[in-house]
Amino acid sequence: MTKKINKECPHCLNEFSPKQKNGAEYQLCEPCSKQLEDEMKIASKESYDEHQREVKKSNKLLKRLKKTLPAKIFKAIEWLQDSFVCYGFQIVERKDTTGVKQKASLFFDQSSAVRYVYDDTSYCSYDDAGGGVVFIRLDKLRFLKVYVSM
Ligand SMILES: [Zn+2]
Repeated sequence: MTKKINKECPHCLNEFSPKQKNGAEYQLCEPCSKQLEDEMKIASKESYDEHQREVKKSNKLLKRLKKTLPAKIFKAIEWLQDSFVCYGFQIVERKDTTGVKQKASLFFDQSSAVRYVYDDTSYCSYDDAGGGVVFIRLDKLRFLKVYVSM
């Protein structure tokens, strides 16, 4: 006879046998493990959906900008997309920009039709990886805000 060692589930405080299906040792009792698994599934599905919505929104905006912006300006956006992982494109006003004003030719490392950008990549608001936010001046009133990951 195998001796049953019961463990207290830290979640519901019920005793349970740690050895469960597939011989895997569970840290939580079966109902709690199942509940946690379901919650994680829902959370990752939600963040996936949100990401998909974000991508759709950005693509729509870029499509519109491609049609309406001078090609020279749009080229800078394409260069940025080629050079970095970009996401969360959004049009903002001058007052919503952050970071350091920089000549676009310096930022893009080539001559550019864009006059200047606001570079806020030194600190990162999005995650711990290198990157941050860049604002590309489109015209007098509009800046294209984009999260870049380096
Ligand atoms: Zn439990």
